Amino acid sequence: MFKPHAPFTVTADEIKRFWALVSVGTSNDCWEWSGFLTKKGYGMFGVGDRTRRANRVAWTIQNGPIPQGLLVCHHCDNPPCCNPSHLFLGTHMDNMRDMVEKGRSPIPSFFENFVRGEKQHSAKLTDSKVLNMCQRYKNGDITFESLATEYGISKFACRLAIQGRTWKHVPDAVPKFFLRRTRLPR
Ligand SMILES: [Zn+2]
Repeated sequence: MFKPHAPFTVTADEIKRFWALVSVGTSNDCWEWSGFLTKKGYGMFGVGDRTRRANRVAWTIQNGPIPQGLLVCHHCDNPPCCNPSHLFLGTHMDNMRDMVEKGRSPIPSFFENFVRGEKQHSAKLTDSKVLNMCQRYKNGDITFESLATEYGISKFACRLAIQGRTWKHVPDAVPKFFLRRTRLPR
């Protein structure tokens, strides 16, 4: 059911063709795709020799390649929308939780069990929080201590999550060699 996508890039020419097919409005509006839509309402756009979902292309144009295995989700719950400020990166688990919360889950009890499983794992962290911690740590301007304080967890729990020793299904863990190389002075 869930197929991980590989990161991709977009050329300047593709960017031009892409925005020509989007009804761009103000920053609050949904910017809907005016090109081809799938049955579920997602825009499709050719990038290189592949056809990609328009929301994934919009996110890539704004932020660079989507990290391996992550999804581009809609805050606005509007599939054809390509407004980058309505899009967020999430894991498959985030997307399932979002579906349950918005009442879109096709098999509610099945997905709700998944979400409950995550809640048992830790009350204080979620997939997106762990992902966010990893990304911020990789940017190199924040320590385990500051992250742990901010998320209300122990420094130890924070380190394990960032190293990918817990939360193993979150794909953006920081490898051990990277931790040593970039450790900041206390
Ligand atoms: Zn939108």
